[in-house]
Amino acid sequence: MTKHDIAWDLSVIFPSATDPSIDKAIDFIQKAADDLVANYQGKISKFSSKKLLKLLQDYEVYLVESSNLGLFARLTFAGNMTVPESQKLNDRVSKLLANLSKKLAFLRLEIGQLVYEKPELINDKILANYKHYLERLKREVPHQLSEVEEQLIIEKDQFGIRGWQQLQSKWLNTRIFDVVVEGEKMALSYGDANALLPHPDRATRKSANQAIYELLKKDGELFTSALRNINNDWINITKRRKYESEMQASLIANDIDQKTIDSLLKTIDESSHIYRRYLQLKAKLLGLSKLANYDIVAPLPNAPDITYNFEKAKEIAIAAYSKFDEEYAFATKDMFEKKRIDASARFGKRSGAFCSSWYKGQSAFMLQSYNDSLSGIYTLAHELGHATHDYYFTREQTILNTRIPMIVAETASIFGELLVTDLLLSQAQNDNEKLAVISRVLDGAGMAAFQVTARAWFEQDMYDAVKNGEFLDYETISNFWTKNRDRIYGDVIDWLDVMDSEWTMKGHYYIPNFRFYNYPYVYGQLFVYALYQKYLEEGKEFIPKFKKVLAAGSSMSPKEIGEVFGLDVTDPEFWKLGIKRFEYFVNEFEKLVK
Ligand SMILES: [Zn+2]
Repeated sequence: MTKHDIAWDLSVIFPSATDPSIDKAIDFIQKAADDLVANYQGKISKFSSKKLLKLLQDYEVYLVESSNLGLFARLTFAGNMTVPESQKLNDRVSKLLANLSKKLAFLRLEIGQLVYEKPELINDKILANYKHYLERLKREVPHQLSEVEEQLIIEKDQFGIRGWQQLQSKWLNTRIFDVVVEGEKMALSYGDANALLPHPDRATRKSANQAIYELLKKDGELFTSALRNINNDWINITKRRKYESEMQASLIANDIDQKTIDSLLKTIDESSHIYRRYLQLKAKLLGLSKLANYDIVAPLPNAPDITYNFEKAKEIAIAAYSKFDEEYAFATKDMFEKKRIDASARFGKRSGAFCSSWYKGQSAFMLQSYNDSLSGIYTLAHELGHATHDYYFTREQTILNTRIPMIVAETASIFGELLVTDLLLSQAQNDNEKLAVISRVLDGAGMAAFQVTARAWFEQDMYDAVKNGEFLDYETISNFWTKNRDRIYGDVIDWLDVMDSEWTMKGHYYIPNFRFYNYPYVYGQLFVYALYQKYLEEGKEFIPKFKKVLAAGSSMSPKEIGEVFGLDVTDPEFWKLGIKRFEYFVNEFEKLVK
C-alpha cells in the first residue's frame, strides 16, 4: 500500500483474514444453521403467528452473522485478489455459505406454504414487521414444484442452460479481434476491443465495432442454437411452473405487476422521438448529417479536458448531496470519514465498481478504481447513493426487509447522479462543459431507458415466435433484433450491416433461470427521473418522503413506494413525468447546440 492509497478499512468487521475471531464466527454460523434445521424443518406447517415470529427472528440472527462474514470475505478478496490468505478465506466462506443456504432452503418453502394456506397470518399484528416479506413468499408458492422436481430442474440446468452460458462467455473471452487503433493494426481481447467503442477517434470506433460484430456474426449459428434452446426451455418451465407468461417469474422477483411494466414500456415507445431528437442534435455537434451506430455513445469533439482529483470529487459529491438536504449527506460524509471507500486503482483489485451494504455496522463499503475524469465523479456519486440507501434502511429495518428488488435498487444511486449533474451544470464555466455533462447524462439514460426497452421487446418476440411454432434461426432472431432496435431509433442512425448480430454478446440472454433481465433497468432509470421531476416541483416537501422510502427497504412494494409520493406507477402519466425530466435535458442540450 502506498502513501496515497485510498483503501477501505475492513478491520472494523474483522481484524484480519487470519484472525481467530473468523473461526469463532464460522462456528457460530454453523451452529445457528444446525439449530434452525433441528428446531424447524418439517414442523412449520402448523405454526401459530407467535411461533412464526420466533422462527423469523432466529433466522435473522443467522442472516446477520452470515452476511457479516460473507461481506468481509468478499471485500477482502475484491481489494486484492492476489493475496493467498484472502483467496483462501473467500473460497472457504463462499463454499460454507452456499452449503448452509442449501440446507436452509426449506425455510422459504415451508414458510411460503404456511402463509399460502393460512393467509390470515400475513395480517396478524404480531407479524406486522414481516408483512410484505410474507406477501412476497406467498406469491411464489403456486409456482413451486415438488422437492424432486425442483432438484431435477437444478440438475438439468447445470449441464443445460449453464453450459450455454459458459460457452457464450468462453467464446467472448477467447477470441482475438483485429482492430485498427488510430491507424495501427492491433490484435485485441474482447475486453480491450470493447473498451474502444467510445474512443474519440471515429475510425477507431468504427473498426472496433466492425471487428467485434463481424466475428460474432461469423459464429452466429452457435449463439442461435444457444438462444433457441434457452428460450424453448423457458417456455417449458413457464408451463410447468404455471406462470401466466414468460415474464411473470421476473415480475414476482421484482415485486411488480404486468400492468405497470406495460405502462412503462408504452410510455417509452411513445417517447422515442425525444431520444431521436437528441441523437440528431449530437450528429450536428459531431459535424455529421447522421450518426452511425458507432457514434451513439461517442464523446463530443470539443469536450473540455478537465480533470478532477479524488479530493475534488469528494468535495463535489458532498456539496451535491448537502445541497439537496444537509441531513441526507450524513452517509456520504461518514463513508469518507470512516474509510469505507476503496478508490485507488491497484494491481489485483477487482475491476468495475460496487457498493455493498454492511447490515451489522449500519453502513456500507464501496469499491471503484477512481480515475480523474467526469466518469469517475459520476461513479462515485452513484455508489454513494447506494451507500445512502444502505444507511437509511439498515437503521430502520430488520434484515429480512433489506432484499430490495432490482427495479428500485437504483433509486438513490441514480438520484445521486442527478444531484451531481445539477451541481456541475450550475458550476460550469462555459457551454462546452455544460454540453459534456448533459451528453453524458443523455447517453447513459438513452441506453438504459430506450435501448434496453428494445431488448425487452426482442425477448418477448422470440417467445411469441416459438409459441407460434416458428423456428428460431439466425435470420429470424436477427430480424427481431433489428426490428425492435429500429422501433426505438427510427431512421436517425446508420447501422453497420454486422450490427444485426448485436444480440449475440449480451450475457443477460444466457443467464440461467432469470429471463427479462432488461426492463428493470428501464424502470429504475425512468422511476428516478420521475421522482426527481417531482422533487423539482415540490421542493423541500419532497425530502421527508424520499427518506421514508429509502428507509423502508423492501418492507414496501414498488407500488406502495409510488403512493408515498402520491403517484401511481401503474398509470402511464406517472412515467411521462420521468420523460419530462429526460426531455428537459434534451431541450437544454438543444439550446447549447444552436
Ligand atoms: Zn447501481
